[in-house]
Amino acid sequence: MSDQPTKVLRLILGDQLNASHSWFDQVRSDVVYLIAELMQEQTYVRHHIQKTAGFFLAMEAFAKDLAAQGHEVHYATLDETAGFESLPEFLVDVMSRGGINHFEYQRPDEFRLRKQLSDWVAQDGVIARDFSTEHFFLSDEALGDYFYSGKAHRLEHFYRKMRERFDVLMEEGGPLGGQWNFDAENRKRLPKGIEIPEPLMFCNDAEDAVNRLKSHGVETLGALDGPLGWPVNRAQALSLLTDFCLRMLPFFGSYQDAMTHRGWSLFHARVSFALNTKMLSPQEVCDAAIRAYNERPDEIGLAAVEGFVRQILGWREFIRGIYWANMPEYADRNELEAQGELPHFYWDGQTKMACMEQAIGQSLEFAYAHHIQRLMVTGNFALLLGVHPDQVDAWYLGMYIDAIEWVEMPNTRGMSQHADGGLVGSKPYISSGRYIERMSDHCRGCAYKVSARVGDSACPFNVLYWDFLDRNSARFAKNPRMRMMIKNYERIDADERVAITAAAKSLRARRHEL
Ligand code: FAD
Ligand code: SF4
Repeated sequence: MSDQPTKVLRLILGDQLNASHSWFDQVRSDVVYLIAELMQEQTYVRHHIQKTAGFFLAMEAFAKDLAAQGHEVHYATLDETAGFESLPEFLVDVMSRGGINHFEYQRPDEFRLRKQLSDWVAQDGVIARDFSTEHFFLSDEALGDYFYSGKAHRLEHFYRKMRERFDVLMEEGGPLGGQWNFDAENRKRLPKGIEIPEPLMFCNDAEDAVNRLKSHGVETLGALDGPLGWPVNRAQALSLLTDFCLRMLPFFGSYQDAMTHRGWSLFHARVSFALNTKMLSPQEVCDAAIRAYNERPDEIGLAAVEGFVRQILGWREFIRGIYWANMPEYADRNELEAQGELPHFYWDGQTKMACMEQAIGQSLEFAYAHHIQRLMVTGNFALLLGVHPDQVDAWYLGMYIDAIEWVEMPNTRGMSQHADGGLVGSKPYISSGRYIERMSDHCRGCAYKVSARVGDSACPFNVLYWDFLDRNSARFAKNPRMRMMIKNYERIDADERVAITAAAKSLRARRHEL
């Protein structure tokens, strides 16, 4: 290939739909943008049908918008790409067909894809340049200011630095309201009569995308009966954000940990898909919430807006830092040496445990569960049961509309399964059924008794919680945040402890039928 640029191919991946990227400042006649539905992205894990359809629809809408602005765009459907085993193979074909000798790409957020592209461009004959996605608060380079491989990091410390660095919710050099974190005010159970708003859903026709997936034999999970309700273009993403600030934000802080069978997203924003595909930027999401707070301070309250900003400026950037500092070794971490199998009911929601039935059932129906359902219900249960983190990762990565490895894996393997040995969280997020009872209305309608520690009808979370402490008390004996739990376990008399171990063994043997 000559290094004289004739035409440049610019690749846009499905999670790089950033309309404000500097690439698009100018319409260039020597540039063709490639957006492609790739078989390799459908098969590295089995995805929820709404997730795959959502990506295809959002990619198509983005391609149309670019074309309408005068950019040259090649949108390749599965019909065109299915014969190619890998992305590089397809790129070689497109470039040779189009007489293109230069390749440009935005650095993928996933290790797998970043390595695949950087290995390919390192080969002789590929003239390439990589770019930032211009999406996150912290650039790739700036992550190195905060994160080190193998080192445990804590959100609170990082979050404060981020507030200072980006001057968010600050006054006179300190936090607005004199406090960095209002988390303690954010753990309320839902009051009985509270009205739960209907989530704003869109009416996106996904039939063609679904037919394409079917005709190419792509296996998916979950349901899509009718139009797709998730936002698939920037206008819809902005409407969702506006609606959140208007109707949900005032209650977000107080009830962000609450769970109920009366609703599936409560006061959550459901902007993670729009954020992770980059239809929305984290800066504009934080700005919108802060603007709403400034306009309606009495209605929204500082605790609500701080709690929301913390998720995005804090957690989301933190999780990304952990991922890039520790990949690829992170993907093999299994600190607690869990070897068990994921119960079948994770795939069909058929369980007698009311909390699990709700969390899994709504995940299958909407490709969504909120944070506490993911962490303290499905994640907690897998951790207590001792499921291998590879299986837990695959489930979360496939199931959720927002699941992309950089954000899914540290949340799952790290925060939820403690398989990283504490790089994300200082202790495992475990609880008995008591926590779920406190934060939800599930236990009242459950086949199991949340008050029982052993016996056939005892809540499985209880049995497995005490068994977890038994199995891991030596490992966590020096962890100050675990001391109280271990002490409580040690107070249980010896006979009951033997019964707990036996009951846990029996539960594991019946794991698929609980
Ligand atoms: P809200 O509760 O309204 O929060 C607003 C935003 O804050 C979210 O959209 C998200 O962008 C951000 N946020 C909140 N918590 C986190 C967090 N822990 N890490 C990163 N961002 C956060 N989030 C994903 O985006 N993709 C995943 O694959 C994913 N997997 C998870 C797996 C497990 C086991 C757990 C415990 C959490 C996971 N999360 C993941 C984090 C969180 O649950 C989701 O971001 C959130 O539920 C998305 O819904 P929402 O937009 O309504 O969030
Ligand atoms: Fe979940 Fe246990 Fe409550 Fe049933 S009793 S809903 S299994 S916590």
